[in-house]
Amino acid sequence: KTPLIASPARTQAIINRYGLNIKKSLGQNFLTDINILEHIVQAADLSPKDNVIEIGPGIGALTEFLAQNAHQVLAFEIDDQLVPILGETLAQYDNITVINQDILQANLPQLIAEHFEPDRPLKLVANLPYYITTPILMNVLQSGLHFDAITVMMQKEVADRLVAVPGTKAYGSLSIAVQYQTEAKVSFTVPRTAFIPQPNVDSAIVTMTKREPFNPAPFDEKAFTKFVKGSFLHRRKSFWNNLLAMFGKDSDVKTRLTNVLERVRISPSIRSEKLTIPQFIELVNALHEEGL
Ligand code: SAM
Repeated sequence: KTPLIASPARTQAIINRYGLNIKKSLGQNFLTDINILEHIVQAADLSPKDNVIEIGPGIGALTEFLAQNAHQVLAFEIDDQLVPILGETLAQYDNITVINQDILQANLPQLIAEHFEPDRPLKLVANLPYYITTPILMNVLQSGLHFDAITVMMQKEVADRLVAVPGTKAYGSLSIAVQYQTEAKVSFTVPRTAFIPQPNVDSAIVTMTKREPFNPAPFDEKAFTKFVKGSFLHRRKSFWNNLLAMFGKDSDVKTRLTNVLERVRISPSIRSEKLTIPQFIELVNALHEEGL
């Protein structure tokens, strides 16, 4: 019986056989720790009913586990040289489709409708290409798709930002974008020694599940996102100075900003990283009512 793709010996054999040119620029670090793959599948809580999206299958280490534990897998791989390799390494599975496309260009809702049977749980499981972790997560969260769970590996420092609480250094617009929609938690960390080649950072698995919408809600989600981003644009400045950078500095604007802050009982000297999501929502709604 052929050993699992992720076993170090088989991974090395695949790399040698195809003379694989591993591209650091595409974030190619292949997982070679079977234990960790088993833990990822557990964290993703996969069932044979699930439709699963994978981003960046590489040579198929994780894809193989997904195929064994889910109904169907749709995997997006940007690197042309990996597509024929995946064709061979995954040949024994009939529930995997590999799409040779940049995930940031892909029309995910359309492709899901084309490839997946409807009315099944939809999950995202991936060892992400780290150089585009944030844009991938933003696209996924803004796609309007309902994922029952998102289980993704990323650089440890980015994972810390996703789950950061107000008042900490890691807390910022990324934390808020993620926590506005999901309950996010770090399931476990992964040492750099679990990969070939080894990355120069440690990694973590983050699981995200949809949360109850905030109540009250922002009057407009785009305005909310823009306001949060603006509040963290100049991290060394106070919240007040970020407000002035967003809304302007003339005395009429300053008066209206002061009124809004009084109304929502937030001090102008607060730092943006102290503000909670409900406070950002209250602020953006009050600013809107004030005509700002
Ligand atoms: N899943 C494999 C594993 O765990 O061993 C490989 C993970 S590796 C960290 C990231 C993968 O994402 C690479 O195969 C890389 O080619 C692919 N990738 C990089 N940028 C991509 C993009 N924009 N769209 C789709 N795949 C991409």
